[in-house]
Amino acid sequence: MSRDARYDILFEPLQIGPKTLPNRFWQVPQCTGSTAETPLQNALHRSVKAEGGWGAVFTELISIHPEADALPLRQPTLWDDDDVRQLSLLAAAIHEHDALAGIELGYSGFTRGFGERLVARNPSQLGNEVFEGLIGYGVEATEEEIRDLAADWATAARRARDAGYDIICIHGSQDLGPARFLSPFHNKREDQYGGSLENRTRHWIEVVQAVRDAVGDDCAIVPRVSLDDLRGDGGVPLGDALQVLRWLDPLVDAFDLNISSWDWGEDIAASRFYPENHEALWHLEARNAVTKPIIGVGRLTSPDTMVAAIKNGQLDVIGAARPSIADPFLPRKIDEGRVDEIRECIGCNACIARWEAHSRVVCTQNATMMEEFRRGWHPEIFTKAKNHENDVIVIGSGPAGLECAMVLAKREMRNVHLIDGASTMGGVLRWLPELPRLGDWRRLLDYRQIQLDKLSNIEVITRTPMTPEDALDYGAGYVVVATGAHFAADGTNHVTHAPIPGVDASLPHILTPEQIMLEGKEVPGRTVAVLDFDGYAAGLGLTELLSQKGHAVTYITPFVRPAAYTLYTGELPNVARLMRELDVELLVETYVSVMHNGQLTLHGLFEDGFRRFPDASDSVREPGGAGIVREFDAVVLATGRRSDTELYRGLMARKGDWADAGVQGVFRAGDCVSPRQLSEAIFDGHRLGREFDSSDPATPLRTRRELSHWGAMHDADGDPRKLLTLIQQDRR
Ligand code: SF4
Repeated sequence: MSRDARYDILFEPLQIGPKTLPNRFWQVPQCTGSTAETPLQNALHRSVKAEGGWGAVFTELISIHPEADALPLRQPTLWDDDDVRQLSLLAAAIHEHDALAGIELGYSGFTRGFGERLVARNPSQLGNEVFEGLIGYGVEATEEEIRDLAADWATAARRARDAGYDIICIHGSQDLGPARFLSPFHNKREDQYGGSLENRTRHWIEVVQAVRDAVGDDCAIVPRVSLDDLRGDGGVPLGDALQVLRWLDPLVDAFDLNISSWDWGEDIAASRFYPENHEALWHLEARNAVTKPIIGVGRLTSPDTMVAAIKNGQLDVIGAARPSIADPFLPRKIDEGRVDEIRECIGCNACIARWEAHSRVVCTQNATMMEEFRRGWHPEIFTKAKNHENDVIVIGSGPAGLECAMVLAKREMRNVHLIDGASTMGGVLRWLPELPRLGDWRRLLDYRQIQLDKLSNIEVITRTPMTPEDALDYGAGYVVVATGAHFAADGTNHVTHAPIPGVDASLPHILTPEQIMLEGKEVPGRTVAVLDFDGYAAGLGLTELLSQKGHAVTYITPFVRPAAYTLYTGELPNVARLMRELDVELLVETYVSVMHNGQLTLHGLFEDGFRRFPDASDSVREPGGAGIVREFDAVVLATGRRSDTELYRGLMARKGDWADAGVQGVFRAGDCVSPRQLSEAIFDGHRLGREFDSSDPATPLRTRRELSHWGAMHDADGDPRKLLTLIQQDRR
């Protein structure tokens, strides 16, 4: 198929200073959790994006100086010539597919010193809570040190050019680098780098000029600027940002514009709180301030929205991080007339959560994300399985079963039957996207449904509950069990590792999320306690849903914050705001010991006294009290989850019957192994499908690793004692 003409504008080349961007798709700088030690996993990841048609592909933020060491966040560095060699691999991987290679240089400014044990130069010495409870201070730089910092940017830019990069992005958003000097929130100076907007912009200008002097026309220079840090007059509001753009305009080749401060949740906005293209109004304001092309983000996934954004003057180039993660081949699918096959980002921010948790990034939609090198997976290439002349039944059509069945069908297994006892497929996806604000999560189901419809070797069979006997009698060579998990009906949770005495969801006033969402069980009365020990989607969603229905909701959680996991997804501030707007009573650090006659006994997590030597009471802590008794009309249990293992265990118990039934293997995937996040359930189903023809599909193949071998250090001839001697002689 060929491209729909209405998308032609997305494929027009554009001059960005000395470089020609081949189309309007720009993978903005995006973290992967890679470091200087893992260049291959990063290079293969970026390479797939370039292959998928992104005209410019960027690295993540690359630290320009050891002072700006971001640990425990994981980022590559550009501190010396070794780093140049490491990063040249990424540039080469991007160039292999004729995309422009971009690098984002950054100087974090906030100091933790976890890696290099140094402090960063700052405009002023003010404490910053970069991670909860962890306050860091920089050093207030002298004017000379600020000028030296601009020179450090130039050195890094030269190294970036030498590593082969076409575009240098100067990170001046999210309170980083020059943005820190620009903001009166961070900058309290009274010299020529503080006070007036012009003075606060001086470092920005000096950095850009230094970078330009360093690389000349060898590279395009694109500053990343926040159009609004949302701090009002105490920060850098839109009006000030526009003036800064006017001053930078003659010095740069394009602008990468967003909105954000260090609280970047407003930029990486999850779909729970902001729709697609949520930064459009800010971009439109910037249009009249600059003459250079504008690149902007806003989780744009629809080609029609992209076209409209360019035609109405909002943007010249579509910037994207998450849409490019969820579907690295998004541009090519538009170009090839396969728009319906785009794997649209659902805006869950599971990717960002992993990075914030100091790990390698993953994607809920795209199981191959960051597995391109480690596992050799490609998002669009599936090899024919060696055991393809077999039929497979996949029992359970939730996230793992759906993904596994799709991968098996793409790997050309003879027949794949995806079987579910429910009337429609989807498992947990039948109800989770029905909760308030989670509608975009339905894309997990929609994408896979469209894929299944295009595959002739797969059949979806619903309303068919399966017993072990049914599975063995089916006649398939392989059985995959993906029966999912459910919320415990007795309140079992991770705090007490036990049921809550008196809690039983067979009673009318005690309800699990599935009973409410799938079975239509009525929530009686007005007052409702939502017990959220899960800390993510179900408890929060039901709190809002029941509030909307007029219930007075008390939200009870053992965590410090509501929906605690949203600390990592960037949603936490808005979750807290939402709770306030809903007028929900919030009880944090609280657990339930017992339910009796409709009354819950609540305890603070730490209400007992300090440790003591066991005495006659046999208690190691001084009991702090009997808790607080509260009465509710209904109790909702988003407590612990349990795998649905009955079918799998039944099949394993009948292993002796497999051969007679022609069954060569029974495997399980997803939540029926272990309840987990959607990204991990989908990954698990994908993994099983990819390795279905290995010698033991139940055991994942080992991943490739990038190990720096000590044997490569010094000239030790592979002799560990010789190396130790050499290293120890090299004392400083
Ligand atoms: Fe989008 Fe979620 Fe994937 Fe991130 S993890 S790219 S938000 S689908």
